[in-house]
Amino acid sequence: MSSSAATTVVRTCPLCEATCGLELTVADGAVRSIRGDKDDVFSAGFICPKGTTLGHLHDDPDRLRGPLVRRDGELRPATWEEAFAEVARRLPPIVERHGRDAVAVYVGNPTGQGACVASVSGAARSWWSTPSAPTRPSAPPSTSRSAPEATRNS
Ligand code: SF4
Repeated sequence: MSSSAATTVVRTCPLCEATCGLELTVADGAVRSIRGDKDDVFSAGFICPKGTTLGHLHDDPDRLRGPLVRRDGELRPATWEEAFAEVARRLPPIVERHGRDAVAVYVGNPTGQGACVASVSGAARSWWSTPSAPTRPSAPPSTSRSAPEATRNS
């Protein structure tokens, strides 16, 4: 079995609003190492421990790569059209039966720090009139690079 030579690529970490620059070493279609990109104009080589683990996240066999719909008690791969059709079919009766508090919306990072919160929150409030929708923080977290926990390539 032949192996390909390692290459270095630069990417932006998608895990939070800090959007640190990453330098990835890739070989045989897999991430071999991740360091901070010293040439990144924002992060200048600083990254947190989460950024170094993106390769594990990328290759995690349990990672969701598309929608799943429960059929006969089991979650099965579905198209987005099938997934949205299932939501449209099942959600209205739930709200009708249990009221608007039966619906909640959860949004994680980095989506939770972006304009998506306003969209999701607004949609949830108008479609289902649920109060259990995310709200944008009144003061967005700082994206400065002074985090003492950050690590830096030397
Ligand atoms: S602080 Fe960590 S998680 Fe956030 S963008 Fe930088 S490396 Fe990624």
